Amino acid sequence: DPEAEKRILDGLNERQREAVKATDGPVMIIAGPGSGKTRTLTHRIAYLLATGKAKPHEIIALTFTNKAAREMQERVQKLVGDQTKGMWVGTFHSSFARVLRIDGEKIGYSRDFSIYDTDDSKRIIKQQMNRLNVSTDDVSPRGIQNLISDAKNRMVSPEKYASVARGRAQDAAAKIYPAYEKALRKANAMDFDDLLLRPLELFDEHPDVLEKYQTRWKYVHIDEYQDTNHAQYMLARNLADAHDNLCVVGDDAQSIYAFRGADITNILSFEKDFPDATTVRLEQNYRSTGRILALADSIIKENDDQLDKELWTENDDGEYIALMESLSEKDEAKKIERRIRDLHVREGLSHGDFAVLYRTNAQSRPIEEALRKENVPYQVIGGTPFYQRKEIKDALAYLRLIVNPNDTANIQRVINYPTRGIGRKTQERLQNFANKHGFTLWQAIERVEDIDTLSTRAKNAVESFRFLIAKYASKAESMPADELAQEIIREAGLLSELRKDHTRENLMRWENVQDLVSGIADFVASSDDPSLSVFLQEIALMTSQDEEDDADQVTLMTLHASKGLEYPVVFVAGLEEGLFPLEMAAKEKQDLEEERRLFYVGATRAEEYLFLSWARSRYRYGDRETKTRSRFLDEINSDVVRTAGGGELDQKKNRFKSSSDGGSDSSNYDGVDPHYYRRNLRDGSGSGASNGKERKLKRIEQSSGGGRRVVYDEGQGEIVPGVRVEHSKFGEGKVQDVEGRGEKATAVVYFGSDIGNKKLKLKYARLRII
Ligand code: ATP
Ligand code: MG
Repeated sequence: DPEAEKRILDGLNERQREAVKATDGPVMIIAGPGSGKTRTLTHRIAYLLATGKAKPHEIIALTFTNKAAREMQERVQKLVGDQTKGMWVGTFHSSFARVLRIDGEKIGYSRDFSIYDTDDSKRIIKQQMNRLNVSTDDVSPRGIQNLISDAKNRMVSPEKYASVARGRAQDAAAKIYPAYEKALRKANAMDFDDLLLRPLELFDEHPDVLEKYQTRWKYVHIDEYQDTNHAQYMLARNLADAHDNLCVVGDDAQSIYAFRGADITNILSFEKDFPDATTVRLEQNYRSTGRILALADSIIKENDDQLDKELWTENDDGEYIALMESLSEKDEAKKIERRIRDLHVREGLSHGDFAVLYRTNAQSRPIEEALRKENVPYQVIGGTPFYQRKEIKDALAYLRLIVNPNDTANIQRVINYPTRGIGRKTQERLQNFANKHGFTLWQAIERVEDIDTLSTRAKNAVESFRFLIAKYASKAESMPADELAQEIIREAGLLSELRKDHTRENLMRWENVQDLVSGIADFVASSDDPSLSVFLQEIALMTSQDEEDDADQVTLMTLHASKGLEYPVVFVAGLEEGLFPLEMAAKEKQDLEEERRLFYVGATRAEEYLFLSWARSRYRYGDRETKTRSRFLDEINSDVVRTAGGGELDQKKNRFKSSSDGGSDSSNYDGVDPHYYRRNLRDGSGSGASNGKERKLKRIEQSSGGGRRVVYDEGQGEIVPGVRVEHSKFGEGKVQDVEGRGEKATAVVYFGSDIGNKKLKLKYARLRII
């Protein structure tokens, strides 16, 4: 398709085009942030399809988050039309989970294996610590979990680990590691590390399986290559071995996952591993203003271990980077909120244009409070995600047992929740029986009649639990997944448990469970393979970024989660010694450099405005601590930075002086020279854009009414405050408030004094206007 081919190449610069056209042999694109690495990878895939060099099923692309994968898939589709069926685009974890669903039986896992999150694994680890009398004095279950995961990431087997373990914590881990692995296998379950290791085992033991995939995938692509760990590296090498068409893109300066086993040598030794590799360097940055780039450059220059990379831009210099100093975290939050409001109201930036980044999850709380108080819509990425909430995990546990009854961690979770007379003693006896005969917990439950230590009452209780699970397991094939979910959740007593007392929390939980069922219904309606086990796999692999949606709201997230993303306005909060860099990371040079790369990643998310913020005191670990500003602020290029009051950044000298000139009290805010913010937006193109950079600022379309009006369903008219509606469960009610739009629209509806106000997702609530 020559037209598509032209379209694909036209959107690229010379270097990028070169990378796209280099379709034979290994290719590495190594380049700084915002230089179009991800864009080039996407266009390359489209190019392969448009020119017929590859069929969709011959292409695999591995990304860092599911969201990135979705975006890539959509963009490719946009470029080449609908000819993408059969192409694999996903995270390492989801792609290889898929491989294991297809071929895992060859290494002893059934198709319906469970995927354990850290919570589930911890349960197993605790249980094994109990069983093997490993005391928690020396090391916590969580500590053991980390040690084991670390070993797995480095592909150290339990036997090997036992021989190299040193010290009490590692000795304890060495004891648990083999038992943990055995328990997982028995439960037909895998933890996240297994999703990468088991495929390697599979390929190793069954070369024919490896050959099948090698032959199939002519082209292998990897984004964010700098953050791959050893197992991922091995997988990539294995897959690419037949055709040698491996294309990786990355930036060593953005490597931020060493603490999780990411291995920077993967990128540094690419040319050695693949001697005929073509290396492409991209140097033009399309994302950020000149000043933001100058700042970023001054951050990374402090690190010794970095490949040399040029980065330049045709974009305007843009605004100065603004340094914000506050008295406390609360003050900081308030200032951030006021800046957002200011840019929103005066400059017309929409809420979705803002991101607030921080080092630790706990920092979101005061910021959330400040935003909530002023009704600024926001989302927190990676807080407690929906699927990690207790009530959701309880409901999911039942569903997971339906597809895989041997899933011990989930049996333990719900065997007596809601309470059904299977107390701790009974559970212990079941487990002992299982241990003694080498059964899984479920197999023991199936043989409850034979357990002499149990009373008749206990046996009956266990028997009815078994019956509940078995009944729905037998229906799993024939019944749609959402109905199945609805029924078992009801029959298990989960819904009535949540409705028992009418606290707000429980009502919210109840609604969350309803939301889950609606989510499954959605999945059933839209998926090619709408089985419960595919649904469970998908949600088990959701990453912290994935809950982000298109709604117009401020995004709050950790610096780690911001990788690969871009926003017109970025705040980096909490730039204080001990917090960023983290105290424990400041000691070793290596760790400090990783923190600095993290700062680099954060700063380079910004397109137009970048705010660097720190507070003189912060409440941590139950105490108010006095803080000094981060060393990172003393390292940066002060020419491009202004304090909130408009003055120059006074590095070092002023470090401990009270900042009457700074901006430490909120009144300073009003003293800001307004031109300082607006200059760039007013002159030239009116948006600071130039040179063909695609504009990404989404201005709010001023609606004439100005209020928050949400059109729900054309056939139904508008759901707006004041309208009377009918709900299938709650009956008649009156709309009080409407928030959000599209998929995310919610309404608060008053259903009379018995039921009170309910917040409902319009998408699922199926309200009828009366
Ligand atoms: P990061 O290292 O942060 O992941 P990246 O190198 O992957 O960055 P992209 O996200 O691909 O960079 O590109 C940054 C921005 O620049 C995107 O909005 C992208 O669409 C835009 N861009 C990249 N190349 C071009 C180009 N040739 N013409 C116009 N816009 C471009
Ligand atoms: Mg990218």
